[in-house]
Amino acid sequence: MTAASTRGLGLRLVIAFTLIATLCALAIGYYVSQARQQVGADYTALVTDVVRAQQDPAALRITLDSLEFSQDRIHLEQLHDLLGRIPRRIESIRMQLRRSELDPASYGGLLDELAQVESRLPALEAAVHAAQEGQGEPGDDEILALGMDVEEGLAWAYSELNELLHQASAEQRQLMERLTLALAVLLLLLLLAIGAVMRMLFHLHRQRETMRLQSRTDELTALGNRRWLRDAAEEAFERRRRHGTALSLMLLDLDHFKRINDAYGHPVGDAVLADFARVLQREVRRVDRVARMGGEEFAILMPDSHLADAEALAERIVRATRSMPLPGPAAEHRLTVSIGAVEAEEDNGFDHLYSRVDQRLYRAKTEGRDRIVSARDASTEASSSDAHAPDGDPGNTVCQ
Ligand code: GH3
Ligand code: MG
Ligand code: MG
Repeated sequence: MTAASTRGLGLRLVIAFTLIATLCALAIGYYVSQARQQVGADYTALVTDVVRAQQDPAALRITLDSLEFSQDRIHLEQLHDLLGRIPRRIESIRMQLRRSELDPASYGGLLDELAQVESRLPALEAAVHAAQEGQGEPGDDEILALGMDVEEGLAWAYSELNELLHQASAEQRQLMERLTLALAVLLLLLLLAIGAVMRMLFHLHRQRETMRLQSRTDELTALGNRRWLRDAAEEAFERRRRHGTALSLMLLDLDHFKRINDAYGHPVGDAVLADFARVLQREVRRVDRVARMGGEEFAILMPDSHLADAEALAERIVRATRSMPLPGPAAEHRLTVSIGAVEAEEDNGFDHLYSRVDQRLYRAKTEGRDRIVSARDASTEASSSDAHAPDGDPGNTVCQ
């Protein structure tokens, strides 16, 4: 997967996530706006008024009972006061109902009933007034009959209203619970979606890193490859530019490696290459960069190293290669390596350094293999020729 396609996938994921989040937000918004009316309604004042109003029919009944058994004028006055209070209470409740968030259809019948009660009041008031004026018998059948009608109408309407308000409050509570649950579920889904997207992005990032690493690693030896060394060299040149530190490069090529393949087979050749890579890694410092440039050609970039350090390392490698045990059928074979080494003295970059070290390696090959050819810099090569012979093997004199 290329970086561009990874970015494309990431972009699509972000768009999908944004869409999901927007849809969730719209759904929540719609639900909340629908529920807000009911959830926000405050029925407390109305309930209080209805509870108070329910005292009216109760008081009316007590007064009517009293009037039936005792024709005391005080009961007529109580009745008169009550009849003055009832319409005000009805009007107050009617207004509160209209202002409330309750569905008018749910209380329409109750308002009709209260209107009917109101319509009966004048006749009752007239009868009471007549009785008070001594124009009739207090507690007679007319007052009682009219009073009972009013009392029944009020009692029924207020009790139904009470029931309606309790129901509305219960629905409100239920709605709140559902809303809370819905929000919690949506939040959970949102978190899960975020988690999934993050995981995917993390996975993609890791995959990209792995691929980046793979594209810079040699599979057989697990060493860095040419591209990796080029990157490392650019860093090293940058350091050299900034701090003026030394930098050397060594190019190594196994001698007559084709013969190993031809004599013992390709798998043995592979094993030899892997063993040789381990020898190199064992000999170098932690800061040195060992790479397989291709085939049986390797390179070592040595930051903070002058040519003398590179030569010393090259000698160690030449000796270690000669004594390197080869696997199975190739055990008798004697492996050697040719090495070119240079130190950068002009800041010409990696390609220039590489071409110079390649020339040294070529000379090492043409001059007999199993040797090191080194030089400090192209400009000083003629005067600074150096000759090194790995200890104990004067036949492999290394010269420039
Ligand atoms: P010279 O001393 O001149 O370097 O001789 P040479 O045989 O080492 O060089 P040449 O370029 O003639 O052959 C290189 C050989 O390396 C040929 C090729 O089959 C072998 N080779 C390259 N890559 C691999 C690999 O990954 N595994 C194996 N087993 N052999 C490889
Ligand atoms: Mg070779
Ligand atoms: Mg080669």
